[in-house]
Amino acid sequence: MKKIIIGFLSLALLGGCTSNVKKSAEMVNKYPSFDIKNMDTAVKPGDDFFDYTNGTWLKNNPIPADKNSRSSFDELIEKNRHDIKEIIEESAAAKDVQPGSNAAKIGAFFNSGMDTISIEKQGITPLEPFFGKIASIKNIADVQSVAAYFQTYQIASFFAVFSNIDAKNSSSVIAGCYQSGLGLPDRDYYFKNDESTKKIREEYLVHLAKMFVLMMDAPDVAKKNAETVMKFETQLAKASFTNVENQDPQKTYNKVNVDGLTKIAPELNWNVYFTQLGYPAISEINVFQPPFFKELSNMMKTIPIDDWKTVLRWQLINNTAAYLSRDFEKQNFDFYNKTLSGQEQMEPRWKLVLDVTSYSLGETIGQLYVQKYFPPVAKQKMTDLVMNLKKSLKVRIENLTWMGAQTKQEAMAKLDKMGVKVGYPDKWRDYSGLNISAQPYVLNLLNSMNFEFNFSMNKVGKPVDPAEWGMTPQTVNAYYSPNRNEIVFPAGILQPPFFNLDADDAVNYGAIGMVIGHEMTHGFDNTGRQFDKDGNLRDWWTKEDSKAFEEHTNMLVDQYNKYEVLDSTFVNGKLTLGENIADLGGATVAYNAYKFTLEGKEAPKPIDGFTDTQRFFLSYAQIWRTNMRDKEVRKRVNTDEHSPAKARINMVVYNMPEFYAAFENVKPGDKLFRTVEQRPVIW
Ligand SMILES: [Zn+2]
Repeated sequence: MKKIIIGFLSLALLGGCTSNVKKSAEMVNKYPSFDIKNMDTAVKPGDDFFDYTNGTWLKNNPIPADKNSRSSFDELIEKNRHDIKEIIEESAAAKDVQPGSNAAKIGAFFNSGMDTISIEKQGITPLEPFFGKIASIKNIADVQSVAAYFQTYQIASFFAVFSNIDAKNSSSVIAGCYQSGLGLPDRDYYFKNDESTKKIREEYLVHLAKMFVLMMDAPDVAKKNAETVMKFETQLAKASFTNVENQDPQKTYNKVNVDGLTKIAPELNWNVYFTQLGYPAISEINVFQPPFFKELSNMMKTIPIDDWKTVLRWQLINNTAAYLSRDFEKQNFDFYNKTLSGQEQMEPRWKLVLDVTSYSLGETIGQLYVQKYFPPVAKQKMTDLVMNLKKSLKVRIENLTWMGAQTKQEAMAKLDKMGVKVGYPDKWRDYSGLNISAQPYVLNLLNSMNFEFNFSMNKVGKPVDPAEWGMTPQTVNAYYSPNRNEIVFPAGILQPPFFNLDADDAVNYGAIGMVIGHEMTHGFDNTGRQFDKDGNLRDWWTKEDSKAFEEHTNMLVDQYNKYEVLDSTFVNGKLTLGENIADLGGATVAYNAYKFTLEGKEAPKPIDGFTDTQRFFLSYAQIWRTNMRDKEVRKRVNTDEHSPAKARINMVVYNMPEFYAAFENVKPGDKLFRTVEQRPVIW
């Protein structure tokens, strides 16, 4: 659901976008967390540990035509879809469902998406009131008022407004203004001149024109409108921060009041705008990218009204095409999935509708999901694991040679205070204000977007709710929140292959242990380290220790910059730095936490010919097994702060002395062997 943005949460995730979901379900339950049959022992572990561990699986598991990747993540997400389907079907079939109850909403939302006969018949007509607003625009004040109206449905035409935690006063919620309005995945797509990007721009123009034709423009008018949109977006892109700049919490912290906002972007009438959003009392706003708003304001003086109307029509259709009749849905798929990601076929409709339902009705489904699928014993076991991982990171910090005592004390205080959420929220959200009924699918979706927008904006000016979650319980992912200084593990990821109540400790620590360590380390990555124990953006480092941290992490940037993913396509070491620090720290901390479990015990016997410490690394490498289409890889290298799966293994293990101890046959001369001097030590 690339176009659904429920608030902007600055969260450090475990994996990439979870919505481009994949794979066949039956397989997952049959999978042990670690399976020697996936290995290719013809590869030397020192030459390519990822292929050594996963080679046979990679060969035997091609990407299905309706996916752009196949991985253990994808498999679990697919299994989850089948689990969620049962919940939806039970809700839809339940007798005596109270009108307006959560169960009634779940059933009605899903059914409206599956009712393709009505959807075909309706075509674009459910959106007529929205198009009518655009048609009646006469001046720039009207443009602003329609943009505000659209924003209340999260159709972020030129920029977006949501609530966010004040980064320098982490107990309070303020408003935030963000750059938006680009139809290509990232601002760099408008400027890069390599063949693949140039081709994407050409195809984007064709896509834009086709969409305008579907909106009944004559072909020559459609072509002209496509060019107008491209020119407009290029101008916005030029003023947009790069994705690396967007990661910088200092650069993106620019708190102002309405007067301050007016100084940055005088052509917008901000008092009127916030009133149009329904929130006239807003007084504190963080402007994440001031140059963008300055440029947008300039554009309001120079761009003809007709062009704004063209852009708004495009924004409306681009945000809704996937939920309209087949012609719109297919054209949208052809560009965003086929051209950009290489996906050959659309997934079965029920899966797409299920994802939208599960996302839109998040915690209503989550509540039923955990009752049915999440055993209380898993929560206890997970809590124990986290405590052990915390202890491990504490010992690591105490023993770091590059960090001084004063910074260590602050780091330790931050770790002590780091909160942990496991499984599901203690208190469930109230969805009674959300109107979902037997109306057109796209209107159910827009109602939900509007509900989420208001949920977000109603928090402004109030204290932060400590019980709130940034992910639904059914999500297969995990995150660290710097403003809350907490790590969060939804029930969705607490199942095999990541978390397996039956697996031996070495395998579990290599899988979910590494996931926990990864999220914990985000509190101390290049971004997370800028926040203190209370979640405030405050520098608690001595100058020398900051310098040492940067020296060590620069080694990591260089290593990843040299990693060639595809022919002449390299990982962006800066963009992925936070994730790469978290991967290295996560694996190290998990390994040492595993070692604690052995204290006072006899070393476990080998299983399948592998020692326990070998099984730790094999398990870690196996949970990241992934086949991915080249186009998707290229897109992610440009947009995803996570490194490709293979790099998440091979760039990590050869930096770890523990790996060389476990695999004594990895020696100088092996392809990926690194000397002690070449291995950065960070956490
Ligand atoms: Zn992460």
